[in-house]
Amino acid sequence: MANASKAHIVIVGAGLGGLSAALRLAARGYSVEIVEKNARPGGKLNIVEKDGFRFDAGPTFFSMSYELRELFADAGIDMPVRLDPLDPLYRVHIRGRERPITMWRDPEKLAAEFPEEPDFARKLERYLDKAASVFEDTIDRIVKRNFDSLAEYFLAMASVPPKHLPLLVRSMWGQARRHFETETAASIMTLISFFLGSTPFTTPGVYTLLNHVEFRHDGYWRVEGGMYRLVEALVEELRRRGVEIALGREVVALERVNGRAVAAIDDKGERRRADAVLVNADAAGFRGEILGRKKYAPEKLDKMTWTMGAFSIYLGVEGKLDELLAHNYFLGDDFRDYAETIFTRSDAPENPYYYVNVPSRIAEGYAPPGTTALMILAPVAHLKYKPDWSDRGRFADRIVADLDRRMNLDLKNRILSRTIFDPEDWRRAFRLHRGSSLGLAHEMRRVGAFRPPNRDEEVSNVFYVGGSTAPGAGLPMVVISSKLAVERVEEWYASVS
Ligand SMILES: Cc1cc2nc3c(=O)[nH]c(=O)nc-3n(C[C@H](O)[C@H](O)[C@H](O)COP(=O)(O)OP(=O)(O)OC[C@H]3O[C@@H](n4cnc5c(N)ncnc54)[C@H](O)[C@@H]3O)c2cc1C
Repeated sequence: MANASKAHIVIVGAGLGGLSAALRLAARGYSVEIVEKNARPGGKLNIVEKDGFRFDAGPTFFSMSYELRELFADAGIDMPVRLDPLDPLYRVHIRGRERPITMWRDPEKLAAEFPEEPDFARKLERYLDKAASVFEDTIDRIVKRNFDSLAEYFLAMASVPPKHLPLLVRSMWGQARRHFETETAASIMTLISFFLGSTPFTTPGVYTLLNHVEFRHDGYWRVEGGMYRLVEALVEELRRRGVEIALGREVVALERVNGRAVAAIDDKGERRRADAVLVNADAAGFRGEILGRKKYAPEKLDKMTWTMGAFSIYLGVEGKLDELLAHNYFLGDDFRDYAETIFTRSDAPENPYYYVNVPSRIAEGYAPPGTTALMILAPVAHLKYKPDWSDRGRFADRIVADLDRRMNLDLKNRILSRTIFDPEDWRRAFRLHRGSSLGLAHEMRRVGAFRPPNRDEEVSNVFYVGGSTAPGAGLPMVVISSKLAVERVEEWYASVS
């Protein structure tokens, strides 16, 4: 073991999970080294830069901002970035509905957006009361903790008040329909399931707790100056603390001796000595591909349920776009049909649903003067169902034409820059199984102790961090995962020192 520091930890991957864990570990006296396959740190929390434009590649806002504040407080430093709350949260355009729906946090203002739903404010209150109670009864008991065994997990689950049990079997859609009469209100309240890479028909009702998070609890936030400022701030702080980040190096093997990892080997043959290894790469894929675990072999992975693929378009266009807010959703008029078929389609959907982010509306530095930067994101089937994306150009044209038609724009003739990422690009960039955007689905049999655990089953000094292990995907969950993973490293260190 290293002398000056507690132990030398090699982290595989510089996504938010790897970077957050590195900060916590460095603050606890470990020497830390990060190996990242890409030329730029951040993982999916990244940017695309082209033709003078800048875009957030993936995440554009997040919830539970206090988890981020806790991360920096844990490392003993002030928040290095400023966070701005989103209000309104976003705007939803539904095909065929005359007015878009602006999602306000204020229930009275929100109710005015749903004239077709009688007594909306009262129904919302009841719906959110239930969501709040699920949140309060599970967040510390189930979400923000490590489990050492299935028995311990079941015991914790048994301590959750039984009144929530129906939400384990009822879908999010079912729960929303018990409260709201119209499909419109139910569709919009359950839109959040798409943030989990899933649909409201397959997502368990317990996840309505996310509605509490967005409307009542802490809302949504963005990082002032752009989401990537967070990565830059983390990297700056890590370098200040002597953490080395090797970029453009992919870990292809772990050297093991007597059931312990002793080094990480990269694709250029370089060997990095390690007292312990913390893996930010996909926790299932890494076990299968790098550690050769049969349980996670590619054909086994294919039998598991994965979140949908992402199709993203980054457009730089001439002129301003006052017609759009910073965060906008465009839905069709066949919510159930779309949601039920999107996972398994082998073609690109004719009438896609999509999200449009216009960062240059609220932050400087995204677009040159007199122009606008847009990111369009459409959920699509992952590569198991649609492996061939040779039609990507046509699909992107179709989405832009739809946006032009619905908002009476002329983007098609104003494009100065266009970049497309289809699920194959996402797969290649971040080693995602079948290009699944958020990893394994968050169904009940794949969360808590059933998610690939953050402590390796066989190699005693290998741990996992990030959205692919507990508790799950999304920026706040990833930050929580870094806390849980560091707890594991500390337990290990206590046992060997
Ligand atoms: C399109 C899209 C939009 C999203 N929008 C939001 C949003 O608005 N809000 C939100 O909260 N969340 C959002 N998310 C989810 C969020 O981006 C992720 O949950 C989070 O960024 C995952 O972080 P991570 O550290 O777990 O993994 P990653 O970001 O995937 O980082 C893992 C890192 O490990 C590296 N790596 C993998 N294998 C190796 C190897 N063998 N050797 C070296 N390096 C390796 C990868 O290159 C990568 O940099 C979005 C995701 C996508 C795809």
